[in-house]
Amino acid sequence: MTLCKFGEEYLKKARARPLGTPVLEALQIIKKHLYPKAQLPQEPLVVREISQEEAISDSHIGPGRGGVCLLSGEIVLVKGLWCLKVPIHETLHKISSVRNLEEALILRPLFEGLAECLTGYLLHRSYEHVYSKCWRPDSKEFLCHKSYEANCRLWGAFFHFVPIESIIPLYFEFPADWKRMCETFADRVNQNGYKAFRDVLGGILSSSPPVTDQTFRNECEDVFGKRFTVYCRTPLALDFSNVIRLS
Ligand SMILES: [Zn+2]
Repeated sequence: MTLCKFGEEYLKKARARPLGTPVLEALQIIKKHLYPKAQLPQEPLVVREISQEEAISDSHIGPGRGGVCLLSGEIVLVKGLWCLKVPIHETLHKISSVRNLEEALILRPLFEGLAECLTGYLLHRSYEHVYSKCWRPDSKEFLCHKSYEANCRLWGAFFHFVPIESIIPLYFEFPADWKRMCETFADRVNQNGYKAFRDVLGGILSSSPPVTDQTFRNECEDVFGKRFTVYCRTPLALDFSNVIRLS
């Protein structure tokens, strides 16, 4: 993967400033296009660039392009692998109310897909050319190429049925209370005309069989029907010009 022309300029500017700047910019994009009340936690913001070797030896980051350390909360960007989309994706994790919840850690593939889908949506709203030339194409030519594709499409498909803002109670609102967040989220889906949609995530810690991202996918397929399944299987899911939004 290489840097696009825009990426070269972007990184040159980013390197001339403190590394927290791309994160603060990402926060502004999130506030403007998705969640006006978004804010960073009270703790000091620490953003560090690490080498690919260092990333691989950290089980939470591995071959990824960035991450938020579970214990320290610092944001890391992997040298040579990060460009515009990584600070947006990691800032979403950083400000998310589910970041430290055990339930969300069990559902990590689902929430990684969500963070990546929201990242794509925010690129579409704020850096359309990066979205259409680097993030969305199937070719993995550029560094801002999308990751977690299957669950990213799952959420993209989801937002073609209910407004993207429906995710706010599950992903952003504090205080973090998993059961309440899941209930409110399911309520939002119900209010948008899908009354059969059940809260399949709320009881995750006591559920048998275990709740996974597949449980959520099955519920969506049952409730939204064949069109949802078709969206999930095709690049249509990531066409954000057609997602539903409230504002
Ligand atoms: Zn992530």
